[in-house]
Formats: sequence, structure tokens, C-alpha cells
Amino acid sequence: MNLNHATLSRQRATLDALAAQTWDILVIGGGITGAGIARDASLRGLSVALVDRHDLAWGTSSRSSRLIHGGLRYLEQGRLGLVFESLRERRHLLALAPHLVRPQAFILPVHRGDRVPRWKLEIGMWLYDLLAWRGNLPRHQRLGKRAMLQREPMIRERGLTGGALYYDAQCDDARLVVAVARAAAQRGAAIANWTSVTALHAIDGRIARAELADQLTGATGEIRFRSVVNATGPWTDELRKLEDPGARPVLRPTKGVHVLFRRARLGHQHAITFTSPIDGRVMFVLPWGEHSYVGTTDTDSDDSPERITTTRDDVHYLIRSVNALFPSAHLTEEDVTGTWAGLRPMLRGPEGAGPSAVSREHRILRGHGGMWTIAGGKLTTWRSMAAELVDRVARELGQTSTDRTTGRIASATEPLPGGDSPTLAGFQEQAEAAGLSTPTAAHLVRHYGGETAAILNLLRDDPSLATPIHPDHPAIAAEVLHAARREFAVRVDDVLARRVHLAWETSDQGVAAADRVAELLGRELGWSEEQCVAEAAAYREAAPGHYGWAAAGR
Ligand code: FAD
Repeated sequence: MNLNHATLSRQRATLDALAAQTWDILVIGGGITGAGIARDASLRGLSVALVDRHDLAWGTSSRSSRLIHGGLRYLEQGRLGLVFESLRERRHLLALAPHLVRPQAFILPVHRGDRVPRWKLEIGMWLYDLLAWRGNLPRHQRLGKRAMLQREPMIRERGLTGGALYYDAQCDDARLVVAVARAAAQRGAAIANWTSVTALHAIDGRIARAELADQLTGATGEIRFRSVVNATGPWTDELRKLEDPGARPVLRPTKGVHVLFRRARLGHQHAITFTSPIDGRVMFVLPWGEHSYVGTTDTDSDDSPERITTTRDDVHYLIRSVNALFPSAHLTEEDVTGTWAGLRPMLRGPEGAGPSAVSREHRILRGHGGMWTIAGGKLTTWRSMAAELVDRVARELGQTSTDRTTGRIASATEPLPGGDSPTLAGFQEQAEAAGLSTPTAAHLVRHYGGETAAILNLLRDDPSLATPIHPDHPAIAAEVLHAARREFAVRVDDVLARRVHLAWETSDQGVAAADRVAELLGRELGWSEEQCVAEAAAYREAAPGHYGWAAAGR
């Protein structure tokens, strides 16, 4: 792309800032794991730089099932420790970011012949409530067949014996990552997206220097640090090879695909947990505004994390599974409005184990050159994973007081940006009083929580920023400025996919907004007219293939 002077000098300034000091910690990877580590270390007063080869959350962390949950499946596998830890984290996250992590009611129907009969489900549900010990969500309820059909009349009646209503949490995964990275930045961390680590160098046998490449301009730089953390999710083994070309792989990545439909096509009220009639896998139908997403597949994959895609087999498997639960829906490929595919950075398990049996737990390793690698884990457990890793790094750096020794766990009590407001309803009223439509006001509160006030301030200075950026979506122009000024967005795709989600929430994958977003971003970032045109064109060309299905003409 033809980049103008403003872009080149801004990116150069970022590289210069990274080179200007020796950091306590370099975190490689800006998914939820890396962002969580950067926040935790900054909260403890360590100096932190975080770099990501793409945008924040570009990897697995924007392609999840968006659940902050204990995981009934793990309960079934007897992983009580993981479920207990996850439910504790669910409780923390509901409090730290109530706008991004929200309670969600789930229905779990049981049909005759299902792998899990009703009596077993009831024991599991009881245990789930118990492990949530002093949780902040209601306990489960047992439902008979009639109560189940009253709540979800469209699900298959034949063979239905009843089931359960229970609660878990749903989150905005990409925005959660951005919020966590911002919390780190507010404590002094340097955050550089579109900046790749291309080589690691040892000084006296310890990795202490890395070469960096700016992915937007091609400029190169370097950074020095006292410790380095590899938090690159499915790229973990690639990074380990930069430290030690002979490093043995620790991951067994599996691919997970979700498909999106118009919610009206299924007509469901709750989230639904069910087992696929094809292979008995636990699956979800999850509401997302006017859409529903269904997932997920779980298949071994040796695809590159750079080019992971949804295949026709993936789509057919999900459609067949959901059609069996909603027999009158008759979904076909034509109903698919979007998809996303991600690679789970799973740890290698015993030989011969199926993909779903591979461990969701994490592991912390220290390489020959002293690089810390954190591999595996879940979106749900990012905070506790970060605390464990930073405890070890801080000890190595000579910090004697760790979270465990002091018992002061700031990462569990300090709200994320936008999460510090006791009442979100007040912001919705303020937004409506500022003349915004009810859907836009609700959208702002869900995305920004207490920071809705910052968006409203932008409108006070320039009322034209209240205009929607797409005819079929409530997002407004002010959010693009907010994304550039506060949320590290530097590309049209950063905004439309991972900040405001038009890529999945409009039938044209947000293409109709590309010109306007490029113009607004360009104004903010000093782009030339030529660069605005090129950025919008790049999005228009790539988005249908990346985020759509039928529109991509596959
Ligand atoms: P990533 O998010 O992939 O981040 C790694 C980052 O490293 C990337 O942004 C990449 O650009 C960067 N990087 C790579 N190489 C370099 C380099 N050389 N230099 C700089 N940066 C680099 N968990 C849950 O708790 N709940 C769920 O509902 C859930 N659902 C899931 C559904 C699916 C289909 C999948 C695939 C996973 C799901 N998970 C879920 C798991 C969860 O999403 C992952 O564990 C988590 O997102 C992994 O985050 P990460 O930061 O480790 O990796």
C-alpha cells in the first residue's frame, strides 16, 4: 500500500519508543493471554511492552464461542479443578467488565437416547452450582417437557424428556482483549499492534533482545528487555523455534468453526446447549443481537494460523446438527450470514486422544534462553493464567512480593475501562437524551459501558459524528474516532471486525461502511486521500471472504 508521511512517521515513532528503554517484560502476542499478562505486570509496577504481529485479538481471541464459563463438557470429563477455577473467574469478570461480560440464560434440552440422560444432567447441574460457590448468577432449574417447550417452542418435541435452565456468561471476546490491553496502557504499558517479533537474540546466554518488523510500513527496529513472554496462542511453537530451532512442539491445535444465522430463522429466546446428533459433541446456539451463532466444530488442524478458513464440510456439519434440534427451520447454506474459524492453542495430550479430549488447561514453560512460554488455556481463565505467570517472572526479576504473598490481587478487583460504573441504564438514558436512537444508545452501552460518556463528549464537539456508519447497523461515526484515539485501531478492518463488529453483524460484512470508516480513520491518522481509497478497497475485497459465507461465493 502507498503510505504517506504521517503513517510512516507515526509507525517510526512507535518503534523508536520501544527501542528507547530496557523493559522489564516484553510480551509477544496481543490476544487475551498476552493482554492479561501486560495488565497484570503493569498493575504490579513492572515496565511492559506488548507487541502483536496483527491487530489486538486478531488471532483466536476474536474467534471463540464468546463464553465465560465453567464448561459443562469439562465437568463431564471430571476436570473439576478447571471448572472451579473458571467459575471463580466468571464471577470476577462479571464484576470487572459488566458491559462486556454479561449473564446469559441457557436451556439444555434432553431427548431420549441422548448421551447424557436427565438424571446425570441433574447431578452435573447441581455440581456446577456447587463449584460456582458464592457465585453471582442464579442457580439452575430443572424443567419438564412442557416447561421446556413453553420456553423454546421451536425445539424438537419428538423424544424430548425435559432438561434444565442454567446461567453462564457471554462476552464480547475482541472488545474484552482491547479493554484489557487498554488497562495495561493506562498503567504505563507500551502497546504496539501490527508489530512482529522476527528474531530473538541472547546476551550472555539469555534472550534479551528482539528484532521487530512493522507490518504496515516494513520498517524494522529492536527492543531490549529483562524477560520475555511468548503468549502467541497457535503461533507458540513458531516462536519457540526463534529461541531454539530444535524446540519440540507443545501444541496440538484444533480448529473450531462458528456459523451465523438471522436469529428469526431459529426463533429462540435463550442460549441453547445441546449435543450434536452426528457425533454427540456438546454444541451451542447463542444469541447475538439479531443474529444467532452456532458452534463449534473441533477437528485436528495443521492449517497455518495465518490462513485458517471455514470449509463446506464445517458448515454442513453445523447446519445438520442445528436442523436436528430445530426441525422446522430447514436451514441451508443460503441462510448462513457469516462465519469465523479459529485455532485452539491446545496442549498436546496422550497419543490417540480425540480432539475434544485434549486438555484446556494451560502450561508455563521456560526455554533454554530463558523465554517464558504460556500455552493452552481458555478465554475465561486469562486473569488467573496471567497472575500465575507474572508471579514467576516477577520473582525472577527480584520482586519479592507476589500476588500470592501479599494477598492483594489487584487484577481481580480493578475494573476494566468502562467497567467501573454501578449502573449502565443511566448511560442509555443519557445517550437517548443526546438525541441518539434507542438501538444506538443500547449498542453504545453494550460496547463502552461507563465510557459511553466519552462517545457522547465527541458528539458534543461535533454533532455530525452521531450519524450511523452503515444503513443496517446502530454504530455511529464517533466510535471510529474513539477506536483510533483510545483503542489502538489503525486499519479499516481493525474497526469493522474487532471494534464494532459490522463484519459479522451486517449482511454485506460491513462493506457499505468501508469508505466512511476510511475517511474518518484517515482524518484522525493523517492519511492521504489515496491511502483512504486504498484502505477502503482492501477491506471491500477481503471482507466477504474472511467473514461471510454465501457472499464469498464458495
Ligand atoms: P491468540 O488470541 O491467538 O493471540 C496470539 C497473538 O499472537 C495473535 O494476535 C498473533 O497475531 C500474535 N503473534 C503471533 N506471532 C507473533 C509474532 N511473531 N510477533 C508478535 N505477535 C505475534 N475459551 C473460552 O473460555 N470460552 C469460549 O467460549 C471459547 N470458545 C472457543 C471457541 C473456539 C472455536 C476456539 C478456537 C477457542 C475457544 N476458546 C474459548 C479458547 C480461547 O479462545 C483461547 O484459549 C484464547 O483466545 C487464546 O488466546 P491467546 O492470547 O493465547 O491466543
